[in-house]
Amino acid sequence: MVTPSAILMLASVLGAAGEAERPNILFIMADDHGYQAISAYGHGINETPNIDRLAKEGMRFDRAFVTNSICGPSRAVILTGLYSHLNGFKTNNDRFDGSQQTVAKILRTSGYQTAMIGKWHLVSDPTGFDYWHILQGQGPYYNPRMKTPEGVVPHTGYTTDIIGDLTLDWLQNKRDPDKPFFLMCHHKAPHRNWQPSPKYLHKYDDVQIKEPETLFDDYSNRTRAAAEQEMTVAKHLSPNDLKLIEQRGLNDEQAEAWNAAYGPKNRAFEEAKLEGDELVRWMYQRYAKDYLRCIAAVDENVGRVLDYLETTGLDKNTIVFYTSDQGWYLGEHGWYDKRWMYEESFRTPLLIRWPGHTPAGSVNTDLVMNLDFAPTFLQAAGVPVPEQMQGEGMELILNGQPVPDWRKEVYYHYYEYPQPHRVQPHYGIRTDRYKLIRFYGIDQWELFDLQEDPHELTSIYGRADMVAVQQDLQSRLIKLRDKYQDHEPDE
Ligand code: CA
Repeated sequence: MVTPSAILMLASVLGAAGEAERPNILFIMADDHGYQAISAYGHGINETPNIDRLAKEGMRFDRAFVTNSICGPSRAVILTGLYSHLNGFKTNNDRFDGSQQTVAKILRTSGYQTAMIGKWHLVSDPTGFDYWHILQGQGPYYNPRMKTPEGVVPHTGYTTDIIGDLTLDWLQNKRDPDKPFFLMCHHKAPHRNWQPSPKYLHKYDDVQIKEPETLFDDYSNRTRAAAEQEMTVAKHLSPNDLKLIEQRGLNDEQAEAWNAAYGPKNRAFEEAKLEGDELVRWMYQRYAKDYLRCIAAVDENVGRVLDYLETTGLDKNTIVFYTSDQGWYLGEHGWYDKRWMYEESFRTPLLIRWPGHTPAGSVNTDLVMNLDFAPTFLQAAGVPVPEQMQGEGMELILNGQPVPDWRKEVYYHYYEYPQPHRVQPHYGIRTDRYKLIRFYGIDQWELFDLQEDPHELTSIYGRADMVAVQQDLQSRLIKLRDKYQDHEPDE
């Protein structure tokens, strides 16, 4: 029986715990940062000591997936906890309907101070945030003019550092110490065209970046989709991407640093007159080094923010997420960019540190998704998750507990076609071991056994010994499409 005194006692406990005990949520997201380029994932091509701190002190997710591997749509999924067909933002040509329910709005109503800094990329202005200071569209790497409710603010400097500065300024000077906060810090880097900071223009000058095993993939043994795309290192990087022409948007001082760095390298390249595979290898090195140089600045700025949390003691009651809006091809299959349901772009890096919850140095292999972030923020804040949200709160997983009824399959749907990279629209299912993909525009299927063929080089769809597996996956796929209310295309 609940007595009045028990109620009083409960009220006083809650009062004592109060707002101070509700955790702050710091969500740091990069743009196009593949897990291959975070040293905590062990691929050995670069060092990200600051991002790695979250893995050492928290949980690394090795099977975190996105629902639609592209910039704007991923952001809309994270804000709404809904698949693209329900939040209305299916391709980068769409405009986010900011009148819909978002996790920022719910947290704000629940007493959180909310802030959004950096890349937004949803066309309409942010809603649900007490403070926002965002890049316009993709935003440049240098000297961004950023948008705020009060108007456009010009900045001079390197965008990754500026986003770090703005994040620290908000924490130091704009945060309300009487409220828990929900802060989204979204870097533009390492998105194309991979312009490094002056500070890192010479990093990796004396090393060769390890090539992926599938750099020279010939796209045989699959549907025609993989062969028809336009996102190869070999054919689709522009002179601007490769820094073979003068870069726009730099001031005199920045341009001088750039000319000093790229001038000698470009002259050596012209003299070498490379051809064939040698030329592809050179382009891969140029592209990969610039990409990793951009990540060095992201890592440095993650470190600045983590240091601030530790210095102030805020770290003890702050959940920190590090993720990307999706994964990325760092030369795998000969590609740059994302979009596909193949592992490198379907998977996204995810590291979460939640003091008192995530066991230090833990690794999780459950099938989690960016769809789960919004429900997870709400669980952490002790706020009920609206029934219409399609993700699952990850609180138990973050506590290091086994969750036997966790999902056993993930559903994916990509739409944007034909431009900019001619990647056929597709949907599909991935389980622990298999992946079934339907390219519906060309009426083709692919099936991969991820255990036998981790690089997804040979589709075994239609193979006689795969009939039972295929039928099982197809029926599970139909159920998933029903569950998530995805009826497009109507087949
Ligand atoms: Ca992106």
